[in-house]
Amino acid sequence: MSEEVKPESMSLYPASAAANPEQEAVCIFGTGDLGRSLGQRLLQSGYRLVYGSRRPHSCGPVPPGAQVMSHEVAAQSASLVFVCVQREHYDFLETLAPQLNGKVLVDVSNNLKKNMYPEANAEYLQKLIPGAHVVKAFNTLSAWALQNGPSDANRQVYLCGNNPEAKQAVAVISTKLGFTVQDRGSLSAARELEDFPLQLFPEWRLPMRLTIGLTAFFFFYLLTRDVIYAYVDEGRDISFRIMMSLANKVFPSVSLILLSLCYLPGVIAGFFQLYRGTKYKRFPDWLDRWMLCRKQLGLIALALASLHVLYTLLIPIRYYVRFRLAGSTISQIKSNKTSPFDTTMAWRTDSYYAIGALGFGLYLLLGISSLPSVSNALSWREFSFIQSKLGYLTLFFCTFHTYLYGWDRFLYISQYKWYTPPGYMLCLVVPSLVLVFRLLLLLPCVDKSLSRIRQGWERTDTENDSKKSLLA
Ligand code: NAP
Repeated sequence: MSEEVKPESMSLYPASAAANPEQEAVCIFGTGDLGRSLGQRLLQSGYRLVYGSRRPHSCGPVPPGAQVMSHEVAAQSASLVFVCVQREHYDFLETLAPQLNGKVLVDVSNNLKKNMYPEANAEYLQKLIPGAHVVKAFNTLSAWALQNGPSDANRQVYLCGNNPEAKQAVAVISTKLGFTVQDRGSLSAARELEDFPLQLFPEWRLPMRLTIGLTAFFFFYLLTRDVIYAYVDEGRDISFRIMMSLANKVFPSVSLILLSLCYLPGVIAGFFQLYRGTKYKRFPDWLDRWMLCRKQLGLIALALASLHVLYTLLIPIRYYVRFRLAGSTISQIKSNKTSPFDTTMAWRTDSYYAIGALGFGLYLLLGISSLPSVSNALSWREFSFIQSKLGYLTLFFCTFHTYLYGWDRFLYISQYKWYTPPGYMLCLVVPSLVLVFRLLLLLPCVDKSLSRIRQGWERTDTENDSKKSLLA
């Protein structure tokens, strides 16, 4: 470290970059976690870096090649300043207003909670220094992500600000650091950007609630019908079945309903467009929200289907199953009688497993193609072929698999314990409806109208009126 320390400026690495006058200088206020990580990336990208700190001589470690100065001096050395300081400490910036006038100030700050302050941090900064051009940016990246460089998940820098030149200057730096830039408009979008890092799986909330609700419903429904009924009506304690048999009925039932819920909004949207005769009217909010969480619904459905496959593979090693098999073999030996081979049963079980396996294979394909790295490599047509055409085929196979499971059981009165239908019948309602509605939309006359509407054709008012009077 240099022994000659000026009162206001100190170079921690005097030999190299700091001396090169050709390098563009960038200033960072604050030598904390984000300031250090951002500084390191800026230096790696060829910028000359000057830190503004409260304690230029005794601040924490900074990346080699950076200079540390007082805020006043540092502000004068660059036209762009990253404010890597918590919003609570912004007051000191007011005193620097003369040095910061006309400069680009990048606000990277976040809050601990939503709506903590009446205005966004960036708007507050703009109020403190009206002569500066405040740009909100980099707040959605963590210090850790900045240190590690852009990866798939952290490739984007969102920015907003009122001055186009200032935004351009920040966009150029972001691009040089290897990020792609998303301009979110004027500074009034700052609050939205500040809320980004505070989100907690927002798109998973509705699917998770649905999953929990459906799982709870099927669990208690099947518990009542299978376990409690056996205890009350026949005096048998088969509560051990909760762990495997019951779970292996709940998982596929919920999975099938969730899969059909991925496709139901698309079908409803089709009918909306047919009814309105245009694609240019907004869908109701609930339908928009539903459509936006289809990927999550599908992934949860896939997870439950995988559990169903795993549990089914475990069936042969269950104690209960082995006990029943041994019992039936011994009773056949004792009575010297062999049960005849039932070809219908063989067809039924083989078809049931085969269609289930096919359905699960397609399920996996849908899940894999929804991974960003895979979907990014597909053309729009390829993606929509897999997600739509193969998606409906998956739904068809899984629904058919469940019908095969039921076979002719719906004919037997003993299946309707306490006058309630078996669980598999309940879970068939939504997927069957979706498939029927989808078939209706595929009818040539309907499909033709829908395709025209989706290509931009609109029904005129006279056509609308005559349709309405016909309906009346
Ligand atoms: P930090 O580690 O606490 O560092 C903040 C720096 O601010 C300190 O090192 C200090 O630098 C300076 N400072 C502290 N008190 C001050 C005061 N009273 N007056 C003036 N300067 C003061 O915080 P950080 O994690 O780097 O975060 C900085 C900003 O970036 C915050 O607004 C945060 O919301 C935002 N951010 C952080 C991350 C992250 O991953 N850490 C991610 C996105 C956004 P000197 O001692 O050199 O003056």
